[in-house]
Amino acid sequence: MVDRQDALGLPLAKPLDEAAIREFSSNVRGQLIRPEDDGYDAARLVFNGMVNRRPALIVRCAGVADVVGGVEFARSHDLPLSIRGGGHSVAGKAVCDGGLMLDLSPMKGMRVDPVRMTAEAQAGLTLGEFDHETQEFGLGTTLGVVSVTGIAGLTLGGGLGWLNGKHGLACDNLISADVVTADGQLVIANEEENEDLFWGIRGGGGNFGVVTSFGYRLHPVGTVLGGGLSYPLSKAREVLRFYHEFASGCPDELSTTASMGVAPDGSGVVGVSVCYCGPAEEGERVLRPLREFGSPLADNIQPMAYTTLQSAPDAGFPPGRRHYWKSSYLKDLSDDAIEVMIRFVSEIPSPTTGVGLQQMHGAASRVDPTATAFPHRDEHYDFLILSQWADPAESERNVEWTRAFFDAMQPFFEEGVYVNNLGDEGEDRVQAAYGVNYGRLSTLKEEYDPTNLFRLNQNIRPRAQPTSDVVS
Ligand SMILES: Cc1cc2nc3c(=O)[nH]c(=O)nc-3n(C[C@H](O)[C@H](O)[C@H](O)COP(=O)(O)OP(=O)(O)OC[C@H]3O[C@@H](n4cnc5c(N)ncnc54)[C@H](O)[C@@H]3O)c2cc1C
Repeated sequence: MVDRQDALGLPLAKPLDEAAIREFSSNVRGQLIRPEDDGYDAARLVFNGMVNRRPALIVRCAGVADVVGGVEFARSHDLPLSIRGGGHSVAGKAVCDGGLMLDLSPMKGMRVDPVRMTAEAQAGLTLGEFDHETQEFGLGTTLGVVSVTGIAGLTLGGGLGWLNGKHGLACDNLISADVVTADGQLVIANEEENEDLFWGIRGGGGNFGVVTSFGYRLHPVGTVLGGGLSYPLSKAREVLRFYHEFASGCPDELSTTASMGVAPDGSGVVGVSVCYCGPAEEGERVLRPLREFGSPLADNIQPMAYTTLQSAPDAGFPPGRRHYWKSSYLKDLSDDAIEVMIRFVSEIPSPTTGVGLQQMHGAASRVDPTATAFPHRDEHYDFLILSQWADPAESERNVEWTRAFFDAMQPFFEEGVYVNNLGDEGEDRVQAAYGVNYGRLSTLKEEYDPTNLFRLNQNIRPRAQPTSDVVS
């Protein structure tokens, strides 16, 4: 029986019944943590230090049974339910106020089948942990470019990383998933079973259930030719023009990023980073024009272990810093867009902030936009203003600069946005993230989660439900 409803007509939490919590607790194999318990403050922390939410209950899940129990408890007590994989989403929706936080991060089981070239990976793994296991067999698959990120949220939203040109997105390499749905059932989703659900979780995020385990297709990934070049900000025009031309013609084996930010000595810097995942000699040939261009401050491109490349930027993203991101896609890197970027980067308010262009191309861009729920299939850049700073007193200045920069870039953007870069930016941006697939996703949501139990995410409304708009 629902006592109260919020503005969307969704149930508000009832006061928690102690006897029910005791009974629930006795069925948890992992850990049930409440506000008065030791470890509560550490357990509710997520990557983005701007997020400070206080769940009534945190379940650190030991396995699928804890996930099923948590989903059923939240549903039957009308509790807001948040799902935490690696806890790295900038929106911080892995943690909720007053509800139940289902923390999957203790679930780190993994099995690699080197013969079939597949992996079964539980939802609490980070990229680095996943790569550690697959690289033992000279295998890998596309994930992101910072190894401390969680595989779960990343894969469910798409997953853009160094191997995207050759092997597609992370979600394109998903072959199966175990999903606990809103009614507490464990179902398998793949090309043969629950194909509609399988379609939806490849880009539709955590809207349809809790994924406890992911099955991935793996590929041979040996030593890669990776690393980067850096140039002074004063050379940004020439470097970015050349970079765009170079990246536009590059083979699938090569994926690239470009970035602008502040060097350790405080000067402005432009960087180009690469990963070539084919034969080394061919990679040297392909990269020669880039490495011979201009006079870089540094060139550390070299053969390296894939895991070395994957963890290279980790130190730049310690937990707890404040983050505010704005993002969209850029197809063309016009001179005017470059001018705006230089203007804003010249006035960057935090030395740890950067603006990045992550190239999507090759295999990732050749998938039909409706073949999976991830719609933004094109040869383009995921443009991201990644603002991060430590001092809470600096928040207003950093947020204002980020918004002004983003506004000034508007004329150059395509319509969409990568769902995994979104903060709390309102209904229009959520719809832009799911793009052409929003209607089908909304129908699927109605089928799998008609009461919108899984709503603490970049939410897809069940077809019958109203929308609201909160913009930040
Ligand atoms: C430093 C940094 C670098 C990044 N680099 C990249 C990159 O190179 N490429 C890229 O594609 N993305 C990148 N991202 C974005 C990344 O994809 C998202 O932050 C993603 O949400 C991380 O997943 P997570 O499991 O850590 O997040 P969480 O915050 O734990 O989860 C995010 C959301 O996903 C859902 N969710 C999580 N786990 C589950 C589950 N098991 N079942 C159902 N729903 C679930 C929930 O709705 C949750 O709120 C980066 C992020 C950071 C912070």
